[in-house]
Amino acid sequence: MKKRLILLGPPGAGKGTVGGRLGETLELPLVSSGDLLRENLKKGTEAGIKAKQYMEKGELVPDEIVIAMIEEELSKPSCDRGAILDGFPRTLSQAQMLDGLFECGDDVKVVYLKADDDFLVNRLSKRRVCDGCGKIYHLVNLPPEKEGLCDVCGGKLVQRNDDREEIIRRRLNVYRKMTAPLIEYYGKRNVLHIVPGDGKLEDTLDEIRRIVKW
Ligand code: AMP
Repeated sequence: MKKRLILLGPPGAGKGTVGGRLGETLELPLVSSGDLLRENLKKGTEAGIKAKQYMEKGELVPDEIVIAMIEEELSKPSCDRGAILDGFPRTLSQAQMLDGLFECGDDVKVVYLKADDDFLVNRLSKRRVCDGCGKIYHLVNLPPEKEGLCDVCGGKLVQRNDDREEIIRRRLNVYRKMTAPLIEYYGKRNVLHIVPGDGKLEDTLDEIRRIVKW
């Protein structure tokens, strides 16, 4: 019996930040398809090379690449108790593949972090990520103690290539077309919980902890 928490929501709604914090208290690994793709890209794997052109444009990487990657990750011993999923599924086919992995008795919960476009563009354009450990910052709301450096590992803070305004807008359009239908997909099964993605981080975390009760 595994615990599966799916974090659904547009880019910038806080899936990575929220997922990382929840992972610490729930003692579940955070599995982020975006992070896995970026790792593959850095290492120059075949999947990474194929994914690059899509990621740069803010488009979705083809299902078969992402599905194979997630399947491999979820089959690792680190995911034996379950996982928190960030950024996956993003299409109906990905959601169906995930359904196939769930076993009877698994506890599946879906949290949809909701926020409007102007808020998301602002948050993403001011987002900075540690080059070393991946910790996420915001220039105004969650700045590092020392400018440009990570509080945790001292790594350099960088802006993701796809966090530029024109790419952000494209990612939001792709989200609306390809991923938003999943809200209805999970809603129909009564596993969906809607939580504001534009509130204070601690309030969002409290609300999700009340929902999952793990
Ligand atoms: P993220 O870090 O979740 O914002 O993802 C960054 C980029 O990686 C996205 O804009 C897509 O190009 C790609 N990506 C991440 N997750 C998926 C997924 N589940 N399906 C397809 N492409 C993805």
